[in-house]
Amino acid sequence: MWRNRWVLSVVVGVVLAGFLWEKPWTSLAGAGDYSGKSQEPPPAQVTYRADVWMDMKERVVTGTLAVRFAPQDDKAFFHLYPNAFQSTADLSGVNWEQVLGKQREPGGITITDVRVDGQAVDVVYAGKTNTLLRVPLPVSKQLRQTEVEMSFRLQVPYNNGRLSFNDHAMWLGNWLPILSVKDADGWRLDPYSSIGDPFYSSMANYHLRVHLPAGFQLATSGIESVAVVTETRPERRSTYELDAWNVRDFAMVIMDDTYRQTSSKVGDTTVNTWWQLGDDPAIVERLHQVASKSLAYYSEQFSAYPYKEYDVVKTGGFFGGMEYPCIVFIQDDLFNRNAPMGEAVVAHETAHQWFYGLIGNDEVREAWLDEGLTDYATMAFLEQLDADRAKGYIHLRLSQSRAAEAYATRGLTAWHSVEQYPDWKSYNDLVYGRAGVMWWTLKEAWGAERLHQILRNYVTEHQYRQASGKRLVEIFSDASGADATPFFDYWLGLKLDKATLAEEWVKRVKHE
Ligand SMILES: [Zn+2]
Repeated sequence: MWRNRWVLSVVVGVVLAGFLWEKPWTSLAGAGDYSGKSQEPPPAQVTYRADVWMDMKERVVTGTLAVRFAPQDDKAFFHLYPNAFQSTADLSGVNWEQVLGKQREPGGITITDVRVDGQAVDVVYAGKTNTLLRVPLPVSKQLRQTEVEMSFRLQVPYNNGRLSFNDHAMWLGNWLPILSVKDADGWRLDPYSSIGDPFYSSMANYHLRVHLPAGFQLATSGIESVAVVTETRPERRSTYELDAWNVRDFAMVIMDDTYRQTSSKVGDTTVNTWWQLGDDPAIVERLHQVASKSLAYYSEQFSAYPYKEYDVVKTGGFFGGMEYPCIVFIQDDLFNRNAPMGEAVVAHETAHQWFYGLIGNDEVREAWLDEGLTDYATMAFLEQLDADRAKGYIHLRLSQSRAAEAYATRGLTAWHSVEQYPDWKSYNDLVYGRAGVMWWTLKEAWGAERLHQILRNYVTEHQYRQASGKRLVEIFSDASGADATPFFDYWLGLKLDKATLAEEWVKRVKHE
């Protein structure tokens, strides 16, 4: 996500009978074009198939979902993030207000007809306000594939967040039930927090069939340009068959006929920027150029973008921007404000296609990992695009990073879990500012070529997988031939007494 309080004024910062299970995913998916050192993706362990109907008057999504995966336990958990917005949820306080705004209507998701390998099981919710679904799995089936099916009804909430709507669009972020991760430390069942992007998920293949009423269009994590679209007569309802391979989530935006798209190609990828009639054409063009050029830059610097489509979509909300696989949501006023900030937001969300998208991490406990690298990549891109225009943004991050030192006395660092940050300001200063400037400092000392060479090793090792901060520190120690711990302790851990050791490490490596 992208937020900054100062610069942007507000927060700113049914499976149908005949559903073809065996349908080959050929040619629809983006899992093809790798170049250089890029790795072939391992086959995704999880497959989601959903059939969903959009009621744009009632703001209700009904559907069925079938998820096939290898059990890791005698149970599985699904996050039901929309239930964070139920009427019974406590969303008071300034931090929630920054995310959701003051005007809100509740929403949520109800689950029915849960089946495991065709056998009905009880619907068992867990978590405050039912933000988790607990599904028992037969123990004897361990290590084999199992299939969980369910029906759902999602009432889309109204607020300024990632899952909401306005008069012209409905944007669905973190809406579909998604499997919780079980990692070396156990099940990760973290709640939807007000601060940060509290998400953590594994690579999966998605196949969605989306039914839209007449007059609406969509942009999704899947590949719309090759989607099979059928239209009913005379109602003119359309049905899209959408595939997304090797992605961590599936987001989408449903738009009315006020929306238009500007498209261009970057290699084999189609970049679509979705805007509305009445938007400033020069600003739309600039944002589209930034999306295309930054995608090309990160591809060249880190690893080739492996997907066929990338959508940049104007939505409502006050989140600045929000990243999802192959699609990002951009707050509407950035399409009509002639300031460098809109460009920075688009460049930031595009960098998340690597750091979060391709290379996953626990965004609850190590938010600095994806946000720090994302924001560093943003600065590096903006600087080479237009050094003068980039100055303001880089200056902002440098001053946040310096201000972040004050948190040392409070024991708050850049390497904390999202729930430990008392407010958005401290999260911004530390997770974006401090962690981003840490990488910037290395670039200034070593040069982009050297730094990016090591980052490419990190990307190659972790793409389609989960990364960890611990492993990243090891990679830098190995690549430099000297223990990098003091450097990361100083920058992320705010151990200010290690300033000299950190500096020595940077210099020593530089001179080797
Ligand atoms: Zn971000």
